[in-house]
Amino acid sequence: MMIVMRDGAPDDEVQGVIDKLHAIGAEAHLSRGEFKTVIGAIGDREKISEIPLAALPGVETVIPIMKPYKLVSREFHPENTVVKVGPVEIGGEDFVVIAGPCAVESEEQVIDAAKAAKEQGARILRGGAFKPRTSPYSFQGLGEEGLKLLARAREITGLPVVSEVVDVRYVVVVANHVDVLQIGARNMQNFLLLREVGMQQKPVLLKRGMSSTVEELLMAAEYIVRGGNTNVILCERGIRTFETATRNTLDLSSVPLVKSLSHLPIIVDPCHATGKRELIAALAKGALAVGADGAMIEIHPDPQAALCDGPQSLDFEQFRAMMEELKAVAPSLGRRI
Ligand code: PEP
Ligand code: MN
Repeated sequence: MMIVMRDGAPDDEVQGVIDKLHAIGAEAHLSRGEFKTVIGAIGDREKISEIPLAALPGVETVIPIMKPYKLVSREFHPENTVVKVGPVEIGGEDFVVIAGPCAVESEEQVIDAAKAAKEQGARILRGGAFKPRTSPYSFQGLGEEGLKLLARAREITGLPVVSEVVDVRYVVVVANHVDVLQIGARNMQNFLLLREVGMQQKPVLLKRGMSSTVEELLMAAEYIVRGGNTNVILCERGIRTFETATRNTLDLSSVPLVKSLSHLPIIVDPCHATGKRELIAALAKGALAVGADGAMIEIHPDPQAALCDGPQSLDFEQFRAMMEELKAVAPSLGRRI
């Protein structure tokens, strides 16, 4: 249920509505937009409907939200959410490029990649320290040591960092070192993990599960926002289809679809979507054209020698060329790189 307050309704009237909801054990999620203050009421429908909400002081109207996701829906919050990561804003005018190695392998590798990312205009550094690998025999990441190397790369370049958290036991450790917590495709429906990152305040980059619908992605985001953390960035990273020519199939249609259904920002990861470095620049431009808020790109000083995802990683020259292309087209789409 969405309770829309009258323009200029004073704080005590807003609080009056919240108190009534709390009194029957319902949750009240407050959204103060530029024009409207809206309270999202979540709880037992029958109990909520027994409160004469429409008659409370300051209430303009009461509207049911028909979608299964509530707090992340555009109905609840009509304006775009802009997630701030230090000085970087995701969801505004900027098309934010996040770049870095699939996995942090060594100090030299991650610092070289961070410098190359920064030099070409990337705004955030990525790097996996805890890697969710299909095979237990593959490189699993450097763990906390990898997080420390990312923090060192941030010190040197000033770029904020994002890294994946794969388990509830590591949320605090990862949050202590990084600026954005990534939830990977394999964990998109790890509901305990979603709850846990929802209870801390660092922004969360939530990747679409490889076999998940857009609705399931938004329901996963709802878990995080419901916990009190509204700083969620969605990421389209391709889904599994019958097509085997690419690692996954990049569902670019999800970007404008998500934009219409939700106020949350969404970026695109063309690397995991295709598994092929020669397709990345074209699809990064596609992401920009369909209205994504950014792209996440894997880069490596020597992709042939990468311990993870080398075939979908760009070397620094290829990354430079891709950034040039993006910088050339961004202004015509009203975006800044
Ligand atoms: C990653 O970005 O490092 C990653 C593992 O991607 P995904 O979860 O999309 O497979
Ligand atoms: Mn990868």
